[in-house]
This record gives sequence, C-alpha cells and structure tokens, in this order.
Amino acid sequence: MSAPVLVINSGSSSIKYQLVDGETLEAATTGLIERIGQDESVLTHKSDGERLERTGRFADHAAGLEAMVAAFEEAGTPLAEAGLIAVAHRVVHGGERFVQPVIVDDEVEQAVEALSSLAPLHNPANLEGIRVARKLFPRLPQVAVFDTAFHATVPERAHLYAVPSEWREEHGVRRYGFHGTSHAYVSRKAAELLGKSPKAVNVIVAHLGNGASVTAVERGRSIDTSMGLTPLEGLVMGTRSGDLDPAIVFHMHRRTGASFADLDDALNKRSGMLALTGHIDNRAIEAAAASGDRAAQVALEIYCYRIRKYIGSYIAALGGADAIAFTAGIGENSAEVRAGAVGSLTALGVQLDEAANAAGGPVISTPDSPITVMVIPTNEEGEIARQTAALLER
Ligand code: AMP
Repeated sequence: MSAPVLVINSGSSSIKYQLVDGETLEAATTGLIERIGQDESVLTHKSDGERLERTGRFADHAAGLEAMVAAFEEAGTPLAEAGLIAVAHRVVHGGERFVQPVIVDDEVEQAVEALSSLAPLHNPANLEGIRVARKLFPRLPQVAVFDTAFHATVPERAHLYAVPSEWREEHGVRRYGFHGTSHAYVSRKAAELLGKSPKAVNVIVAHLGNGASVTAVERGRSIDTSMGLTPLEGLVMGTRSGDLDPAIVFHMHRRTGASFADLDDALNKRSGMLALTGHIDNRAIEAAAASGDRAAQVALEIYCYRIRKYIGSYIAALGGADAIAFTAGIGENSAEVRAGAVGSLTALGVQLDEAANAAGGPVISTPDSPITVMVIPTNEEGEIARQTAALLER
C-alpha cells in the first residue's frame, strides 16, 4: 500500500473506519462500530474478504477505537505495521474558516468545537473521534477534512441569504453546503469519464443517500449546492423535509405551542420520506409503490420532482451542463429515481437511455445526448485519504 491513511468517520454512537491507499483510493480494510455507550456494542471488521465481528460493551469512543486497534491485530494486519502516514477525520462543519484539510492541533480542536453550534448533531461527535485518536496515535498527524470545504467557492449570489445583516455578520448565517468530499470526488470522476479535465467541464452531481444534496460544479469548482446553513435545506430526504416556507415553523409553534427543539426534531428526524410513507428506506418505499401504495407513489413523485427542479435550475445557473452524475445509495441503485429525476428533461438536453439506466451505467444517456448522464459510485473515504496525502506532500 502506498500512503496508507486511516480514515475515521465518528458519529454520536457509531464509528466508521477504513484503511485507504492515498494513491489508488482503494480500501484494504473497512469497519463499523455501532451502539457505542449502549449495552451491546458491535464491531464489524472486513479485510481481504475476511469478516470479523466482536460484541461487547464499548462504553465510549475511546473503548470503540481501542477495539478497532485490537481488531486490526486479530486480523493479522496490526496498524502499528501498516506504515500509516496519517489518521484522517471527517468533520461535517468547517464554517467559513476551514476551506482546506488541516493538521489538527489544540487550536484547531477548539475551532471545530466552536463550530458545534452550526452542526450540533455532528461536530461534537467528530471531535470526540479526533480527541481519542490523538491520544491513541500520538505520533501520527491527525488531519481534519471538512464536508463544507468544497463549497467554499460558492459565490455570494448563491451563498448569502437575504436576512438581517447581524444574522450574517454575527451569527454565521449563510449557505455552507455539505457532502463536499462526495461532490468533489464524483465531479472529478465525471470529467474523467468524459475524457476531459475537470477544469473543462460543468457537472451537476446528485448525491442521493439518506441525506441528499445536488451541487452545480463549474470547471471543477462548486458554484451552488442545495443544502444550506445546515443539512436540512434542499431535497426531500429520508427523514428531513428539505425546502419549505420558514413560516411553517412559526405557524406550528403558534398553533401547537411546540418548542423550537420539538420543531427542529420534527423537521430533521420525523419529516421527509418517513413522514410521507412511514418508511425511511428507499427500497421499502419503491416496493410499497410497486404494490400499489398510493402514498408511496406520490412520495416518490415528490422526491423526484424536487431533484428535477434543482437539476433544471443548476443547468440555468451553469449556463449549460456537460454531465449529470448520480451517486450514493439511491443515486447509484435506483433506476426508477434516476428516470423520475431526469427522464423528462429532453428539452434541456437530456436523452436518457432506458436500457442503460436499468443496467446501472456508468453512462445512462444516449450517445447523442447533449448532456451525458452517469452513475458514479461515491468514495468519500477515498477522497478524504487523497486530500490527506496531498496535504502532507505539500
Ligand atoms: P446511503 O445513505 O448512501 O447509504 O443511501 C441509503 C439509501 O439508499 C437508502 O434509502 C436505501 O434504501 C437506498 N438504496 C440502497 N440500495 C438500493 C437499491 N438497490 N435500490 C433502491 N434504493 C437503494
């Protein structure tokens, strides 16, 4: 392996990790630690086709990462002998300051902590992983790679909200955007598939997973993206509403007396496809729709319609696109959603090839389609490792 990087994605009760080659971006090992802090924690470790599972009680992130180190040893590939160049951490919110990956020191740690008010669900958990890893691997550089960073190039016309100036100047209210490592990776791969430099093409990336966002990438730079101050804005998602009239929040507060914490919870965790269908998982929703469930059919229409509107508006924002790339769980796997999102955009230059779409691509438009439509598996950990290796080479 050249330039091996241990990539850590630390959530509130789970940690995902991968040992990734910083040049080929391939993962030699992947692992997941779930239910940290609960009675029965589970660690799943996969390496060279071998799968190892450990259950126990991992009281906190430190216990979880120690179990990860033990799993590498048990699998016969101890981390101490992996020649790691760094431990890289996914951090969701980098605010206005972190527009590039950085090597973590105490001051960076404090700055990430200060950004927690913008991402209360994510940054504290990301930071916990960083703190524990700094103790566990004191001699290795710890690098933070931010989900927001790729969108630092979004111009004012797209990132400023028309709200009072003190909201913007004192409280950080602006569009930041998320899924940046995915949009960066997939837009670069889309250019590769077109046989062109990223600087020579305009690409629209639709990252459709449990969280979902669309980004307009102009010659390699993000110029607009559907998520905003937080990952709530934009598309309809598994449990998030996406775009809505903000006055709905005041209306529901006045009508029901619900607290802002309740309303925050409702829009982030109890809305989206869950609220429309009773299911979060797209496979369950498609199966329900296929068996005649009217609510599921309408929900899929709403889901695809929102994506279609964003794609249409980004073709306008870019003044024309060379490619549209679908990625993440739903984007990579659902021919139905892809067809629902772009199948009717013939007047805007999209000629979908039904058979190629059903087969899953990578190219799913006809050879003479002015805009090439693609399916590109994302690789966020690979991109984090690539950016980390590039930072350390500088
Ligand atoms: P992600 O957050 O990227 O892991 O994506 C999760 C979403 O992808 C879930 O809603 C899954 O139902 C959806 N998904 C995964 N595989 C398929 C599939 N074969 N067909 C349709 N949706 C899928």
